[in-house]
Amino acid sequence: MGVGVPWPSIRDSWHRKIGTRGRGKHLASPSASLNHAPSPRFRHRRGSRFIVRAESDFYSVLGVSRNASKSEIKSAYRKLARSYHPDVNKEPGAEQKFKDISNAYEVLSDDEKRAIYDKYGEAGLKGSGMGTGDYSNPFDLFESLFEGFGGMGGMGGGRAARNRPMQGDDESYNLVLNFKEAVFGVEKEIEITRLEGCNTCDGSGAKPGTKPTTCKTCGGQGQVVSSTRTPLGIFQQVSTCNTCGGTGEFSTPCKTCGGDGRVRKTKRISLKVPAGVDSGSRLRVRSEGNAGRRGGPPGDLYVFIDVLSDSVLKRDGTNILYTCKVSYIDAILGTTVKVPTVDGVVDLKIPSGTQPGTTLVMSKKGVPLLGKSNARGDQLVRVQVEIPKRLSSDERKLIEELANLNKAELANSRR
Ligand SMILES: [Zn+2]
Ligand SMILES: [Zn+2]
Repeated sequence: MGVGVPWPSIRDSWHRKIGTRGRGKHLASPSASLNHAPSPRFRHRRGSRFIVRAESDFYSVLGVSRNASKSEIKSAYRKLARSYHPDVNKEPGAEQKFKDISNAYEVLSDDEKRAIYDKYGEAGLKGSGMGTGDYSNPFDLFESLFEGFGGMGGMGGGRAARNRPMQGDDESYNLVLNFKEAVFGVEKEIEITRLEGCNTCDGSGAKPGTKPTTCKTCGGQGQVVSSTRTPLGIFQQVSTCNTCGGTGEFSTPCKTCGGDGRVRKTKRISLKVPAGVDSGSRLRVRSEGNAGRRGGPPGDLYVFIDVLSDSVLKRDGTNILYTCKVSYIDAILGTTVKVPTVDGVVDLKIPSGTQPGTTLVMSKKGVPLLGKSNARGDQLVRVQVEIPKRLSSDERKLIEELANLNKAELANSRR
């Protein structure tokens, strides 16, 4: 939600098609907001974004059977519209798909239109003058069905929606932890900057003591309509009123917040980082994001975690990797070595006859499982056996003796 393109720009690009061949006959029953629209100025414009498409089967668009019930149709629409809404889905073609879904739902959710469609197809609907109905704008339709749908705050349609409280945007914070803080968790005080409700105007955005007046540009509609005549008919484009930002009202802006109702402020919050986080972990702190507009709920704060690496211990998920070097003699005879762990230095027994590259497991010396801090991974110790490059003459003598002993044993075993 609220990421990327703000919704009015998507909405502005949505062309409402209301007439055909320049005559007064309407293809679509105009929505309420059009009835009050200022008289259209007809002018010809080349390159109008009208796309002629083949008729699609509304049932297959929604993925329902021809005898689907109303509630099946509704739930199919909700599911599809949620995943193709252009605020959520940035894939190319998603917006068109969203509009197709909305269009299909509009017809199939209306008994009368559905009956006509079943009998005569899409052409039948056009002939009857009931192409797209009350929800000529797919975002209005979406809004009407998803009222109060969490995480979709900020999508609106029509004047009423524009005056409705809007949920604030989420805020993010990057937190860097050292190796052990990430392993065991830590409590951190962080300073975040976000939008908070303006105290001067109580979040209304209007200068205290002033009253909002009806916007003169749009006559209180929040939208302005411009018309284009093309060889295929008259097209009206509905766009958000720039003067009032779509609210239909004009207020003297509050001096503190410039009319937004919110001001940027810094706040220190205490953050409990759970044990077991790693680079790329994301913590969500509810309601600590930006304040909503017009009394809407605040967004959330997302804390993105980055963990500094340690010079000797390496993290591999919930395991910790460490390499220890032992002399060839210790590998042969066995020994005990001191190994650094996140719990401090611990003795590790190297058994006699340990082969180079062997991995020894120090059980439960790894990282606690995120959300299950009583369970822990292991520390895996790889044994690197060091072979001396130079030998003293005494050492050489002993090794040669050992070699002779080996040869003799080998000769004996072959006999
Ligand atoms: Zn203010
Ligand atoms: Zn206006």
